[in-house]
Amino acid sequence: MITYPIRFIDRILETACRIQQIAAPTFDESRRAAWVMDQFRALNLSDLHMDSAGNVLGCWPGTASAAPLVISAHLDTVFPLDVPLTLDRQGNRISGPGIGDNSLGVAAVLGLAELLKTQALRFPGDIWLVATTCEEGLGNLRGIQAVVERFAGRPQAYICLEGHGLGTILHRGLGVERLRVTARAQGGHSWVDYGRPSAIHQLMRLGSRVASTRVPIAPRTTLNIGRVEGGTSINTIAAEAWMEIDLRSEGAKALERLKARVNRRLTSVVEGVDIEVQVVGRRPAGEIPPTHPLVASAQAVLAELGVTARLDIASTDANIPLSLGYPAVTLGLTSGGRAHTVDEFIETTPFQKGFRQIVNLVERLAA
Ligand SMILES: [Zn+2]
Repeated sequence: MITYPIRFIDRILETACRIQQIAAPTFDESRRAAWVMDQFRALNLSDLHMDSAGNVLGCWPGTASAAPLVISAHLDTVFPLDVPLTLDRQGNRISGPGIGDNSLGVAAVLGLAELLKTQALRFPGDIWLVATTCEEGLGNLRGIQAVVERFAGRPQAYICLEGHGLGTILHRGLGVERLRVTARAQGGHSWVDYGRPSAIHQLMRLGSRVASTRVPIAPRTTLNIGRVEGGTSINTIAAEAWMEIDLRSEGAKALERLKARVNRRLTSVVEGVDIEVQVVGRRPAGEIPPTHPLVASAQAVLAELGVTARLDIASTDANIPLSLGYPAVTLGLTSGGRAHTVDEFIETTPFQKGFRQIVNLVERLAA
């Protein structure tokens, strides 16, 4: 078993606090990425580079040509640049925007790199340590997409780390498709030009059809029109209106079918109204079975630590490898809560087990 002093865990938590102080909204992660790059450089990782998607990658080389492991954590947060990155540490709790999602994840990747380096741990395959961009919001998992394009099906596993949710093994990726539908017409005066087509009238017709689309109960599939906007005034025939639609499914095929059904309902032709459908968000679904050796290993490691494993589904970086049939899981590192709010927090004590989980899993898989 790989050993390290308890002080090492405190240092990773301190690193998480340091990372939390560097703003990294989705699409604007470069400051945080540069900082991570400096840390990797200090550890003298091989093949250290930033790729075209802004991901930072470094390699701890293996002694033979066994399948590599890719360990990653996303750099980006949901917080815009103007959100103050206050940080508060009291007892067993650290609070601050982004501390759990995902400063702690990135700090754990750095901690693992340091452990590999300082203890000169050698395994038959390469261990790639990666910090990704664009995991949140409309980033559409662009960072991990580039990582998976590079490594494809060669890795033994893709392991994505998230600060929150110790005990959770995400082995299923929730598929998401987001559409923005815009209706455009000539518009006019509600009295004088009465009879001309209205962008709002047509958008509402389409919305009504979309809202009445049936979705399967299993695999769980959902549909939501979350935003509608348009028009100029109460007495103007609307020239423009739009709505945003969020489609989700546990099943890749079910999501495809729902997309096709919704799209058919959006293509009705009304003279004088143009309908534009844009895909503004896309996260593919995919999963490995609970019996997959990677899931079994992750469960076994947690069981050894006395942590009850919860197999679950979510939309994370692991979606991309899973959607292509590659083994991947997202693992949580500690307990905490209020993610995506400024009151976000993590508990420090459970992180001892959370980090130990990653070390033991890497040792088990890489050996
Ligand atoms: Zn996250």
